Formats: sequence, structure tokens, C-alpha cells
Amino acid sequence: MPDNMSKPLIRDRGDGRGLGHFEASLTEPGCPLVGILGTGDFARSLARRLIASGYQVVVGSRSPKRSVALFPEEAEVVTQLEAASQADLLFVALFPEHYSTLVELKQALAGKTLVDVSNALRVCRDGPSNASQLADLFPESAVVKGFNTISAWTLQSGPRDGSRQVFLCSNSGPAKASISQLCRRMGFIPVDMGVLSASLELENMPLHLFPSWRLPVHLSLALFVLFYLYNFIRDVLHPYLTAGKSAFYKMPIELVNVTLPCAALILLTLVYVPGLCAAFLQLWWGTKYRRFPNCLDKWLIQRKQLGLCSFLCAVLHMIYSLCLPMRKSARYKLLNTAFKQVKEGVEDSWVDEEVWRMELYVSVGIMAIGLLSLLAVTSLPSVANTVNWREFSFIQSSLGHCALFMCTLHTCLYGWTRAFDPGQYRFYLPPTFLLVAPFSVSVLLLRSLLLLPCVALRLGKIRRGWEKSRHIRFTLPDDDCRNGLEDVSHV
Ligand code: NAP
Repeated sequence: MPDNMSKPLIRDRGDGRGLGHFEASLTEPGCPLVGILGTGDFARSLARRLIASGYQVVVGSRSPKRSVALFPEEAEVVTQLEAASQADLLFVALFPEHYSTLVELKQALAGKTLVDVSNALRVCRDGPSNASQLADLFPESAVVKGFNTISAWTLQSGPRDGSRQVFLCSNSGPAKASISQLCRRMGFIPVDMGVLSASLELENMPLHLFPSWRLPVHLSLALFVLFYLYNFIRDVLHPYLTAGKSAFYKMPIELVNVTLPCAALILLTLVYVPGLCAAFLQLWWGTKYRRFPNCLDKWLIQRKQLGLCSFLCAVLHMIYSLCLPMRKSARYKLLNTAFKQVKEGVEDSWVDEEVWRMELYVSVGIMAIGLLSLLAVTSLPSVANTVNWREFSFIQSSLGHCALFMCTLHTCLYGWTRAFDPGQYRFYLPPTFLLVAPFSVSVLLLRSLLLLPCVALRLGKIRRGWEKSRHIRFTLPDDDCRNGLEDVSHV
């Protein structure tokens, strides 16, 4: 029995055979005909996917004889004019700078649908977009922008392995509807982005490099560099300059390990600061119907990214901490301490307070990383979609504040009595936990203030739409009222 699954879906001309009986059922004579202008990577992948989806394909090339071998046998490779005359729907798989070479097809393309799949070379804010230029060249054709965010590879391997969404926009409703139908038949999900003016945004889409991550990543890097330099001055430069002791070996692991938690705690605290600012502003204004300043709006939107950056720093800190005893330097230090104690006749080096501090410090740290992992997982869209809004806000807000509390406690346990040890203030610089912990403690205290019944009730009322001064205001004829406005009733 022949094994259909082992056969390729579409055969190249080189196979010497057409589509097998499996594929023959897909491309039947009555199938809609789709044209493609251009024979490059995109055109070839598109042709294969269209044939596999049951379409007849005609490809228009400047030199059909040369290009015919690149396409499967089921695709007809003809001249551009022939393709334009045969198909009512054509994909323009050319670079935009070559659109002008198609003007002689103007008549053949009149009344037909053209799909512009091109991308911009660099982010362009002002336009005109490639699709608008194509529409200007062919005013009698309906231009649809789409498929530019789908790579030739995704087209070839099928929508299972790549992005499934195809963003479409056009000034012609029927043309957009027919391309949407084609998308669905190819296994993609069409997303209507409106009229052709949206094409500029679509063309810029594949060129963006994590736009919402830019600020959080830069901030994380800046915090890391700042704290690293600070720790370098205290832990490496100070012993070198004051006692001639070389501690440069600390740079790759120890310094990184004490720097990461500082960045993690600041970033995590920054996740909860904009929520606090928003709450206090609403309490101050007595309404939720006033717009927050732009910077606060942006900050609120980027909380997820800040939280994930903090999670990354915390996880790295955990891994670095676990690796600390593996280092040769740690083993030598341990041995040296042991020899020294033997020499001094110390038999028991157990310090109860230190033991307790360490047990609590590690335990709280593990809990903090557990909570942070939960927050990170639930921020993933696929997981967030499985919980309702109340569950999501419980995890992100209530458990989030618990995570902040645990991280702060972990930092305070690390500090313990060190804050009162003058030896910790090298070059008069306080240890880093004294710089970061007050910030998170203040946020937690302000947050607890919002939990006070009188404050919580008022905030709850405001968030349900209550306003402090919902007055009907109108101008009185005489000017003796305040600025011509007078509050006359309380609604
Ligand atoms: P390509 O491999 O360079 O192919 C472009 C085709 O345009 C050529 O095969 C050629 O076909 C034709 N052409 C070349 N020079 C020409 C000229 N001077 N005048 C007229 N026609 C000319 O490019 P591609 O990667 O397929 O990309 C085509 C379009 O798809 C681009 O606009 C690109 O932005 C877009 N796109 C590509 C991808 C991708 O993954 N490759 C993804 C999304 C969007 P003939 O010689 O047979 O006429």
C-alpha cells in the first residue's frame, strides 16, 4: 500500500510526475484562478501554498522560460501580460521600486484586484506607502495590502509553524472580502485593518524591534551598569586602594550576583509605582474621568515588560547564588577559614544568629522567586486568556504585592545588622540594600495606606464612576460670579 504521508504535498517539475492522486483532488478544473507577478522567493512559496489550498495559479514573469523550472508543475508560468489577462486576482510579488515596470499592464489589470505584499526598507512615518503608490499607478484596480508580515518560509511550511494572522487593508470592501476568503482557505486568519491608509503601519510592522520593550530593557541595562559600578567601587576598588588587596576576581560572578537583585527589586517596585500614582491622582482629583499625564499612561502600559525584566534579573540572581559555592575562590576561602580556626583553637564556629538569618533569607528568597514565576507565567497572553479579569488582577495585583513584600523582606534579611556596621560604609558609600530597600518599603507602605477602609471606600466609589464635584455649570449673565462660572447644583 503506497504511503501518502511520505510523499511531498507538491512536486517540482524535476520529479517528472504531476500531483499524485492526493493532490489531484485539491486542484480541480473549476478552482479559482490566482495570478502572481514575479518569480522570486515569495512568489514561489505563495504559489505552492495556493496550489496546496486548491487554487489554480498562473505566474507572470519577464522571462517565463527561465523561471518555469522554479515552480511546481501545476503552476502555469507565462508572461506578465498573459497572467494579468487571465487572472482577476493578482499578487504583486515584486519590490516596490519595480512597480513602474508594470504600467504597460494597466489596461489588462483594470477592474482587477491587486495584492501588494511588499515591505518597507526602513520605518517610514510619513508615506506614501508602497500600496498607495501601487494604487496611484493603477487607479482602475482595487489594491489590497496584505501578506507582507508573512514570510516566504511561513508560506512554504504552512501556517502551523508561523504566524497565522494576515493583516489586510483596502479601500475596496469586496476586494478585501475576497482576499479574506482566500486567507481562510489557505489556513490563515485575516485581520481587517481598515482602509488603505493603514498600509503604512502594516509596512512598518515587520521592521519594528520590540517597541514596547525598548524603555524597560534600557532601564534594566542602565540600572545594572549603575549598580555594578557602585559595587565595583565598594567591593573591588576600596580593598585595592586602601589595603592593596586584589579582589578583581569578584568581577565576573560576585559583583554580578550582588548587582542583579538591586536591579530586580527596583524594576519590580517600578511595576507598582504607576498604579499608586494613578490611585493617588484619582483620590486627589476626586474623579476617574480625568486623563493621566502621558508619561504615566506609558508607564502603566509597560508594567508587564518591567515585571518580566525584573523576573529575568531575579532568576539570574538565583542561578548565580546557587553557583557561588562551586567557585575555586569560595573553596579556598572556606579552607583558609577552617585552617585559621584550627590554628586559633576554635572548635565550634556555629553562630546561631547567622544560621537563622541565612535560613530565613534563603527561604524567603525561594518564595519570592516562586511568586515572581507565577506572575511571569500569567502575563503570557495564552495563559492570561484562560483566566477572567478578577483572577488576573488578583494574581497581578495582590500576589504581585506579596512578591514585592517577599523580595523586600529577602533584601532586609540580607542586610540584617549590616546597616549598623561602620565597616560596610566603604568610601562613605552605603551598601546597595540600603539604597533599594527604602524605595520598595515606601511603595508597600503607601499601598497599605490605600487599604485603609476610608481610603479604599472612596477610591472604590471613584472607580465606579462617582465624582467629587459633579456640578452643572453655566455662565451667568453678570460678571460678578467667579470667572463667570457658578456652581448651581450638585447632581
Ligand atoms: P525576489 O526574490 O528578489 O523576487 C522579486 C521578483 O521580481 C523577481 O523574481 C523578478 O521576477 C522580479 N523582478 C526583479 N527585478 C525586476 C525588475 N527590475 N523589474 C521587474 N521585475 C523584477 O524578492 P522576494 O523575496 O520574492 O520579494 C518580493 C516582494 O515580496 C517584495 O516586495 C518583498 O518585500 C515582499 N515580501 C517578501 C517576503 C519574503 O520572505 N521573501 C516576505 C514578505 C514580503 P521575474 O524576473 O520573473 O519577472
